Amino acid sequence: MKENQTKIICTLGPASDQVPILSRLLQAGMQIGRLNFSFGEYHYFEKLIKNARVAEKKTGLPLTLLQDLGGPKMRVGDLGEAGLELIVGQIHSFYFGVKLSQAGAIPVSYPKIATHLKPGDRLLLDDGSIELEAIGVKGKTVQARVMSGGHLISKKGLNLPDSKIQLNPLTDKDKADLKFGVQAGVDWICLSFVDGAECLEEARTLVAKAAKLANLPPPKIMAKIERSAALEKLPQIIAAADGLLLGRGDLGLEIPYADVPLIQKDLAEKARLAGLPLIVATHMLESMRNHPRATRAEVSDIANAVFDGVDAVMLSAETAIGEFPVAAVKTMQTVIREAEQSRFAALPLNPESVDCLPSSLAFNLALLDRQNLLAGVVALGHNALPPAFVNLFRLKAPLIVVVDSISSARQALLFRGAYPVIMPAKQTSFQPSLHSHLKKQLALKSNGQYLAYLEYLPKQGARLSFVPV
Ligand code: PGA
Ligand code: MN
Repeated sequence: MKENQTKIICTLGPASDQVPILSRLLQAGMQIGRLNFSFGEYHYFEKLIKNARVAEKKTGLPLTLLQDLGGPKMRVGDLGEAGLELIVGQIHSFYFGVKLSQAGAIPVSYPKIATHLKPGDRLLLDDGSIELEAIGVKGKTVQARVMSGGHLISKKGLNLPDSKIQLNPLTDKDKADLKFGVQAGVDWICLSFVDGAECLEEARTLVAKAAKLANLPPPKIMAKIERSAALEKLPQIIAAADGLLLGRGDLGLEIPYADVPLIQKDLAEKARLAGLPLIVATHMLESMRNHPRATRAEVSDIANAVFDGVDAVMLSAETAIGEFPVAAVKTMQTVIREAEQSRFAALPLNPESVDCLPSSLAFNLALLDRQNLLAGVVALGHNALPPAFVNLFRLKAPLIVVVDSISSARQALLFRGAYPVIMPAKQTSFQPSLHSHLKKQLALKSNGQYLAYLEYLPKQGARLSFVPV
């Protein structure tokens, strides 16, 4: 068995929403499908989810569905068919609204635009490709001068990196979308523009309620880190979330972009120590939207995410609307495998990180793993998320998560190295019959290696047994 340790997430959209293409993406290495609720209607997602489950069945390859809520993304309103040409030096007014009220004025979705902006603050449009600077406020409008021009069309994003914006990360639309997601059986739900723990706690309550009503297991909750406010509240967010997604697109507009690689490394370490999975997202293979081959810089970016020890790497437009979705996944897969087989993938075995029973177990398992003595670590008794602490130092061997339902298997799949195995009944301790089942399922041959069986319950301690394969 040679699977990717680092998981591949594909954003699903018009380029990837039919059963044949979904099946090809799964065969190429997609393990998680992202449903981007910034765009699209419920009937579209209903169909897409149905197709995804058909492709999963057809290929026999599990597919985790991650619902990404739109959140309070600020956007430009309706500028009409032609859009608007913004020329350097020209002055435009911005106001809260949806429709164009007068030529050259720009409606935006942020109600407090005129109260929160002060002269000198930047207004970034369309992922920062157009930049203006506020020069003054007149009544309910902000006057701004174009510093870097371009053609602006309706619905493009707006970022205000210099202003303290106040927007609730869980909008009314998000709350409705989340209910829809639970009923449709998504496995993870991601909140965008998270600014602290409160929105995550609120979402968890709503998810639990919707799941109970639908008689379905509640999806896990993920926080998208893409605002500077989130960086200030990281400890609280880590305590409240089940996983993290680094949104490098928006974050790189909110803070100096040279800081983003450092934040990626810092977040990877913090998530790993806390046992949360981390997804790295945006522009990983951007050039493959319309080219069949990746740039060297993109290839390096993916490999470096593997070396940072992240759990998953994500494709956005590349697979949602791009021309080469399957080639993009194959590229990602090849780069991940090469990186994982190199000596740079294992993280330094630092005895100073050993300060409790879980980290000591992780340390000792990693020592054996580096001597090629482990065929896998089998996590027993966990029916929710895998005990990710086991993988603190990033093992070469898979983390075999034994669960008793397909939904637990899909939730676990997101973690680095996690290989879920579904058994009809809950397995809490080592059994010879389980051992022979796993040997068969993983096609393991006697080669001097061991399967390590870990029975771990936070308050009751741990038992670790090593059984030759
Ligand atoms: P998005 O979030 O793709 O929903 O914009 C990710 C990012 O901002 O990088
Ligand atoms: Mn974003």
